[in-house]
Amino acid sequence: MKVDVLVVGAGFSGAVVAERLAASGLRVLVIDKRPHVGGNAYDTRDAHGVLIHPYGPHIFHTNSTRIAHYLSRFTDWRRYEHRVLASVDGKLVPIPINIDTVNRLYGLNVDETTIRDYFDSVREPREAIRTSEDVVINAVGRDLYEKFFRGYTRKQWGLDPSQLSASVAARIPARTDRDDRYFTDAFQNMPLNGYTAMFENMLDDSNIQVEVGLDYFAMRSSLHAAHTVYTGPIDAYFDYCFGRLPYRSLRFEHEHLADMTQYQPVGTVNYPNDYEYTRITEFRHLTGERTPGTSIVREYPQAEGDPYYPVPRPENEALFKRYEDLARRESGVTFVGRLAQYRYYNMDQCVGAALKAAEYVLAGMGETMADGDEKVQPRVRSSLAAGVSLPAVAASPLDTTQRS
Ligand SMILES: Cc1cc2nc3c(=O)[nH]c(=O)nc-3n(C[C@H](O)[C@H](O)[C@H](O)COP(=O)(O)OP(=O)(O)OC[C@H]3O[C@@H](n4cnc5c(N)ncnc54)[C@H](O)[C@@H]3O)c2cc1C
Repeated sequence: MKVDVLVVGAGFSGAVVAERLAASGLRVLVIDKRPHVGGNAYDTRDAHGVLIHPYGPHIFHTNSTRIAHYLSRFTDWRRYEHRVLASVDGKLVPIPINIDTVNRLYGLNVDETTIRDYFDSVREPREAIRTSEDVVINAVGRDLYEKFFRGYTRKQWGLDPSQLSASVAARIPARTDRDDRYFTDAFQNMPLNGYTAMFENMLDDSNIQVEVGLDYFAMRSSLHAAHTVYTGPIDAYFDYCFGRLPYRSLRFEHEHLADMTQYQPVGTVNYPNDYEYTRITEFRHLTGERTPGTSIVREYPQAEGDPYYPVPRPENEALFKRYEDLARRESGVTFVGRLAQYRYYNMDQCVGAALKAAEYVLAGMGETMADGDEKVQPRVRSSLAAGVSLPAVAASPLDTTQRS
């Protein structure tokens, strides 16, 4: 197959761009160094036949009807509203903090009319809000900070909230009602047959060729395409010339419990203060499957390993900007996705950014395409998040306890 566009990475970002370009008649080669499509959203059956998410639990939620409609071309959905409990002081209580969290934890009886007064009575107003610690203590006081935020943040980021900028905890997940859903988005559904099946449908186009187990950097010189869409790490693309962009990584410990039909009452239980792991997720809640045993995953944050969460510190953003400048000068390449843009994106944000990126690439290729040229010479030079507007962030990953 002659290739017009090479897409590096078969996760949400790469798959959406490939699908859009192929639908417009371009011939697209998608490569991924992993042995499967789907990127981090890949799901598969474990040795016991249970559908699991090897790279951690992925719950789809969006407020964008455009994005929901777009993905609905490739999957049916199963209604699922994620709920999370935190294990604190020997109790399982709702997180984000809501009326029931406060009542169960402190044996109180506040309601919608008095919860604000309660927060006002415990908060410690700070004149200058500089760090994440300031943000949380200013909003909900020291005790809730210690119980829910401090330990979790230290585990998650390897840093104390007092070392993280205020923007990291800008959204305090404390609610003044009884809503115990983790996300409040209008659209909260899981792909009925899983993410991988959805990706396979997206990439099922005669204009798309998919090659997994191929590292771009091992083949770079032999891969020829008029345009490249790169969704891998931006620092790797430029051979780490300014140094590595710091990421927080995770180790996933999967376990199957053959004699148990349910391990915990909700999809995820957070452990802010105990154990080395941050949370346990039980997949049957997410997938709705009723298998004889049940499969769970524990997440252990760590410094080394696959890049998962960009570390939200100003110096890292500054380092990224240097790579971004190089990317803008790179000819014939579009950089898109969470790794290329060094940004925590939820899945819907990746889809939104990728749809924009595809439009951008098509706009640049349109004229020569119309000529019917065999070898398309795109007018686009390079783009990095060019013109990409994102849907609103539902649960900011930079939030110290609330993350997808
Ligand atoms: C633990 C965890 C849980 C999450 N949970 C949620 C959730 O519940 N809801 C939500 O909306 N979002 C969630 N996310 C975010 C979600 O994973 C991302 O939004 C999405 O998967 C990013 O898609 P992407 O295509 O940009 O990147 P990726 O999925 O990382 O895809 C990039 C692909 O590029 C490939 N690649 C990289 N370098 C090369 C190379 N040199 N050659 C070839 N291929 C290469 C990689 O192998 C990878 O497959 C979660 C993230 C994490 C880490």
